[in-house]
Amino acid sequence: MRCYQLTGFGQALAAGEQPRPEPTGTEVLLKVRGAGVCHSDVHLWEGHYDLGGERKLSFADRLKLPLTLGHESAGEVVALGPEAKGIAIGASCLACSWIGCLECAACSVGDEHLCAAPRFLGVNRDGGYADYVLVPHPRYLVEIGDLDPVAAAPLVCSGLTTYSALKKFGPLLQRQPLAIIGAGGLGLIAIGLLKQLGGKGAVVLELDPRKREAAMTAGALATVDPRAPDAAAQLRKTLGGSVLGVLDLVGSGETATLAVETLDKGGRLVIVGLFGGAMTLAVPLVPMKALTIQGSYIGSPAELRELVALVREHGLPATPLDRRPLTAAPAALDDLRRGQVLGRVVLAP
Ligand SMILES: [Zn+2]
Ligand SMILES: [Zn+2]
Repeated sequence: MRCYQLTGFGQALAAGEQPRPEPTGTEVLLKVRGAGVCHSDVHLWEGHYDLGGERKLSFADRLKLPLTLGHESAGEVVALGPEAKGIAIGASCLACSWIGCLECAACSVGDEHLCAAPRFLGVNRDGGYADYVLVPHPRYLVEIGDLDPVAAAPLVCSGLTTYSALKKFGPLLQRQPLAIIGAGGLGLIAIGLLKQLGGKGAVVLELDPRKREAAMTAGALATVDPRAPDAAAQLRKTLGGSVLGVLDLVGSGETATLAVETLDKGGRLVIVGLFGGAMTLAVPLVPMKALTIQGSYIGSPAELRELVALVREHGLPATPLDRRPLTAAPAALDDLRRGQVLGRVVLAP
């Protein structure tokens, strides 16, 4: 089978050929039909996250190369190990890449995405930039019925990440519009999911005019250019007078600072983006304004099932899709790194 591998940080993905894996034990083999190209693949490719102040969080000692990237895989079950039960050949599924050790404290409550010793597909073990992907157990497969696997693949990471982050605002979603920072792939999905969750909608802060336009097309209430001198006032006005929820999908020092400074009393900032940087926090403002600053990292396997059920009922969020052949994997990653992608690139092997 063909696969696209990271062989060294910062190097172009390498096209490889491998024998088709044979599932053993509880393993299931999927023929990949859709493999989303996610922004975190760019971070894996770079080999680090920027922690601000010249500090970096390196992947060098945590990832084993070569590694087939791809943690947003949808496909068709084509082979089962002898102990793989509860899934049929031919089933169309998402592969939940968030596979934990099943032994740590996080895994013991189902939060495998927060596992201390993760075995994530496309991160710690080979993923979906390939003709086939091996899934260790049927419990990590979520059937998608007749949903288009190319369009559904991004649910595994970008969909789940936004869904889990939106859930953290609780009933606020139905009471107040949200401020969303960033109208990249995640932002556009968030606007769509917010609607499906019965939310009051969102005002989107975004630098790029093309992306602001895409946010309006996706159903944003309004957009604000964060570089405008009156950006904070515009945001407050378009949100209806108070700023109680900010979803930061960029996650830079600037965006988090803007959010904390703009939030009203009782407000909540949920940070998802991993752009990088650092912020200085006026500590007394946290208790005085009763602020909640919360991080959200992907989502649990159970939340992926909830999300797929929601989407099977209401349809996929209408976000721009950029379908490309598997051979376009290196170029797609490069385009994403340079910010040249609108919506979501999905490889269709
Ligand atoms: Zn991802
Ligand atoms: Zn664990």
